[in-house]
Amino acid sequence: EPSREFIFRSKLPDISIPNHLPLTDYVFQKFSGDGDGHSTATCLINGATGRIFTYGDVQISLRRIAAGIHRLGIRQRDTVMLLLPNSPEFALSFLAVAYLGAVSTTANPFYTESEIEKQAKASATKMIITKPCYVDKLTNLKNDGVLIVCVEDENDAVPVADGCVSFKELAQADETELPKPEISPEDTVAMPYSSGTTGLPKGVMITHKGLVTSIAQKVDGENPNVNFTGDDVILCFLPMFHIYALDALMLSAMRTGAAILIVPRFELNLVMELIQRYKVTVVPVAPPVVLAFVKSQETERYDLSSVRMMLSGAATLKKELEDAVRLKFPNAIFGQNLFDDFCCGSLAPVFVSMDVNMGYGMTESGTVAKSLAFAKNPFKTKSGACGTVIRNADMKVVDTITGVSLPRNKPGEICIRGDQLMKGYLNDPEATAITIDKDGWLHTGDIGFVDDDDEVFIVDRLKELIKFKGYQVAPAELEALLISHPYIEDAAVVAMKDEVADEVPVAYVVRSEGSQLTEDDVKSYVNKQVVHYKRIKMVFFIEAIPKAVSGKILRKELRAKLESEYPKQ
Ligand code: AMP
Repeated sequence: EPSREFIFRSKLPDISIPNHLPLTDYVFQKFSGDGDGHSTATCLINGATGRIFTYGDVQISLRRIAAGIHRLGIRQRDTVMLLLPNSPEFALSFLAVAYLGAVSTTANPFYTESEIEKQAKASATKMIITKPCYVDKLTNLKNDGVLIVCVEDENDAVPVADGCVSFKELAQADETELPKPEISPEDTVAMPYSSGTTGLPKGVMITHKGLVTSIAQKVDGENPNVNFTGDDVILCFLPMFHIYALDALMLSAMRTGAAILIVPRFELNLVMELIQRYKVTVVPVAPPVVLAFVKSQETERYDLSSVRMMLSGAATLKKELEDAVRLKFPNAIFGQNLFDDFCCGSLAPVFVSMDVNMGYGMTESGTVAKSLAFAKNPFKTKSGACGTVIRNADMKVVDTITGVSLPRNKPGEICIRGDQLMKGYLNDPEATAITIDKDGWLHTGDIGFVDDDDEVFIVDRLKELIKFKGYQVAPAELEALLISHPYIEDAAVVAMKDEVADEVPVAYVVRSEGSQLTEDDVKSYVNKQVVHYKRIKMVFFIEAIPKAVSGKILRKELRAKLESEYPKQ
């Protein structure tokens, strides 16, 4: 019967989620009463300097920073941009803004001036918290009245630029001046930018309720859904401006009382040194990082035995890579053994099978599926699966043409429903309506299926989004830049498969009549305006861009053309 819906749910029972609480109250609920500095458990470790912040320190600091931000005129629902590399200041600023009931919009500090300006303007950013080295890119915004707060280096090597506020001073504000605002669960707390299933990057309004739900779905309730415990030391080099590190690592770790070792960027030897020094137990990675481990000649120089779990998400990890990384960790216990070992009651260091795609999610949706590692009664996860649907949520798979709900083992578009979803895109009700339908289903734009054991497999991507090492590249953004060139008539950007980056953007370009424009001209025009991973790798000149009558680019045709002319190696 066409009206029947096949709805998939977690194997775990629903839990009661305190998503009426403001985010910071929820995250530090375990430590309430310890906010006066008494909690000596380690919360943040600055991997660059060795400085440690206890849970008590973090709660005091976040209130002082909130008071400092408030004193500068930031009020509830105002937007503050975090333009920072991974650092304790990123974590503290995010929490302070949340405490105030204001909104953090997060951006990659390597963005170009124009990329930052676009996001700052679209999000009505009133303050930017950044480092002195990025201030040059903010001159226009500063002249337009945006407040710039600078996090000075530990050794004060680079002074705070003229007209900017010192973070150090701001962080010494008197917290007693600060009234605790009334925060509604529906208020936005985080606003990363994402292009979603189509078009330009948009502000994703993630509410207190949404983020609390998303964290609770991963770490609350009775085991078996817990990845982290208070004893864990979690390494965080994945970028905190992306929701994955913010939600699934930083905030989830804080909720469980774990320590987060923050590293500004991935450098293999430094990372291995830190694993050894701080006895790191959990290493979240993306497939390109696994490749770096595999290619390294130096893994044996370090003691990596404290690592009990490596979490790989964002994209599927290839089987060959999995086999190769196993050789690097000869004493580690893998895959099936994880469960056997656990069932025997031992908590020996464990290195989870790398072929498991440990988590699947999307900025707009929170975590959708997750493998249930470290469970009392663990469910085994198959190779290539990205886990089972998160608890307290509904999932369905729909036919991409008819929209009809499909049964098990039939691939279609994955849809997810629950309190964890975004509230919508900022100032864009149309884009919101095509992403979240009237029944509350968020359409992910990913093609996948659920098998007989409730495991979720992602097999393809329906949406136009390109992912370079997990970073978003929105074709529409590059197309807009391309057609702004006086000698470009029309353009389309699609993904080309790449061994290292997974995907890279390539452009099909229609030159205007008589133009001698070269591939290099096109590349240099676009590439200087965008952050490195959005750079166009190849340009193909073409007579016309294939389009549907509606004017929509037929990307599938271009992808097929590319595949036939440049078959995957
Ligand atoms: P973002 O909003 O930047 O997190 O991008 C989300 C998109 O990344 C998803 O809609 C998928 O297309 C892709 N993605 C995320 N996790 C996985 C995964 N585990 N396996 C395959 N693709 C993934």
